[in-house]
Amino acid sequence: MTQKKRSFNKLTSIPLQHVVIDDLFWSNRQEINRKVAIHHQYEQLEKANHINNFRIAAKLKKGRHKGAFYYDSDVYKWLEGACYILHHKKDEELKTKVDEIVNLILKSQLKDGYINTFYSTNFIEKRFSNITFMHELYCAGHLIEAAIAHYNATGSRSLLDCVERLIDLIFAIFMEEKKINPPGHQEIELALLSLYQITNKRKYFLLAEDFINRRGKDANSKRYIFNQFLNLNSTLRHVKELLLKEGESSEIEDFYANLSIKERIKFYYAILNGTCYQLDTPVRKIKDPVGHAVRAMYMFSAMTDLYAENGDEHLLNVLVRSWSKIIEGKMYITGGIGSIKGIEGFEKDFKLRINRAYSETCAAVGYLMWNWRMLQITAQAKYSDLIEKILYNSLLVGQSLDGKKYSYTNPLISTGDYERKEWFLCPCCPPNLARTIASLGKYIYSQSENGLYIHQYIGSRLKCEISDVPIEIYQQSQFPWQGEVKITLLLEKNFDFSIFLRIPEWSKGSEILINGDKVAINPSTSNYLEVQRNWNDKDVIAIAFEMQSQLIYGDPRVKDIKNKIAISNGPLIYCLEQNDNNEFDIFVTSINENSHLRIKHKEDFLDGINIIEGKMSSGKRFVAIPYYAWNNRGPDKMQIWHKKA
Ligand SMILES: [Zn+2]
Repeated sequence: MTQKKRSFNKLTSIPLQHVVIDDLFWSNRQEINRKVAIHHQYEQLEKANHINNFRIAAKLKKGRHKGAFYYDSDVYKWLEGACYILHHKKDEELKTKVDEIVNLILKSQLKDGYINTFYSTNFIEKRFSNITFMHELYCAGHLIEAAIAHYNATGSRSLLDCVERLIDLIFAIFMEEKKINPPGHQEIELALLSLYQITNKRKYFLLAEDFINRRGKDANSKRYIFNQFLNLNSTLRHVKELLLKEGESSEIEDFYANLSIKERIKFYYAILNGTCYQLDTPVRKIKDPVGHAVRAMYMFSAMTDLYAENGDEHLLNVLVRSWSKIIEGKMYITGGIGSIKGIEGFEKDFKLRINRAYSETCAAVGYLMWNWRMLQITAQAKYSDLIEKILYNSLLVGQSLDGKKYSYTNPLISTGDYERKEWFLCPCCPPNLARTIASLGKYIYSQSENGLYIHQYIGSRLKCEISDVPIEIYQQSQFPWQGEVKITLLLEKNFDFSIFLRIPEWSKGSEILINGDKVAINPSTSNYLEVQRNWNDKDVIAIAFEMQSQLIYGDPRVKDIKNKIAISNGPLIYCLEQNDNNEFDIFVTSINENSHLRIKHKEDFLDGINIIEGKMSSGKRFVAIPYYAWNNRGPDKMQIWHKKA
């Protein structure tokens, strides 16, 4: 089974198996993911009944599903992450856990292919009755992604076969019985397009296309959504009653309880008019991204994959326009997106509150996934620049340095009462991070017809073939602390091809040497520098990107950051944490535009970081740390945006 090339992609992704991370910075994050986070998450999934739900569905235990109706998806994301880890590491302890989970999933499958522990242990007759709010298709999507990762890691078809039976059932119900309404939480669409890529079965493509095309087309959608909303509430009440009758309790997050009256009104309004779940507009007519940010990112990812398959220009136009709208008025300096708490999503342009920044960790994961796909269809560095920003800031901040705590939302300022948690009643973010960190190798390189693209400067070994000639690349990188990168080619024979190097948007000057000779740097409009030559074995590309501390001025259209300054260095956004600045209250920090900023590496501080030292207008010295590293010493005051002196 080979991966089918997508016709309208300019670039081709390189399978994870072919890239091994060997990096100053990320190897440590991956080891923490493998040794700590993935096992810690498994324990939490066990404690919170996620895994037990499968034991019950598999009839190995008595009882009924406990927890939220989407809990299966967290197990699937965990499994996907664990399988990515197994791509490269023999890890018996992890493999045993993976085998156990796969077995439970297989045993939970009903004869006709159905899997969903919420419905199969409660009331199977109600399945597929609430596509808007209940997450059966969302869970199925995550199961597809897990099954593909499992197949790639182990070569076993067991989970993939099980998934194909499930999708055949979904196809029969949704394509043949003509149910017109689309899934309320996008995810299955992008997963189906991946399944199509590896199986080449057209029906998976057709189902994904149909789910995407259905959105926003139902003239009676408001009434339909209202009825589905009533159904959601009665279903949840019904489950609670069933559990209580049996002397059980089920801890389910009361999402609404945490919302203020204003937030509730906004939330209900966005739910019932369809904007929260992007059900208000057909996808080809979207003018402005609205609603739940994670759903939007998964939807745009699927639309990009669909474009890559069918070349539909209407889709491309919407994708390019939506991407620009987010960059211009809906994205935080960290690359975080989604600013309204109630809908966990987009506000109007420039309404980016920093104290209540939602910026969900899952939205960062989804944004990364979408940007990766945009990069493949366009080969433009603005997408890989943004991937870098997301990776080092809005995504990485989601996990504590020790790999045991997570943030769901990521504020840009804290009065000292915010702390990462071990787990959440809605634990979507931790396994989403685990699968992303474990699959980091996917995001570093791509191939084009005539060459190799290097998108991220992350130490790694790559093996691939260009025009059927095997090549190996060994990349050593000092990122994110210094701008030096060394790329060594390992070739069996001389070979003429191009290497495309991303020139990062933050670098004001770069020097590139090939085997000691300087190369003129004139990147194309895409911001990739193409170096075409007859490459020899052991050729070395030595790059020095200028990585300087910079002041970033707040966009005057955004009220909270007008007349404010933030600090960056290379791909990293910096913040002040009170802990490092005992002589003054960080909230009064005012920074002079001419303030001299000094960078210092501290190997034994916060797992090894560069701090930035500078002087405030009062003359007092301040210390800034990378934003991702804050909140690792207990709750503390923190801010990214400072007054301009
Ligand atoms: Zn999440």
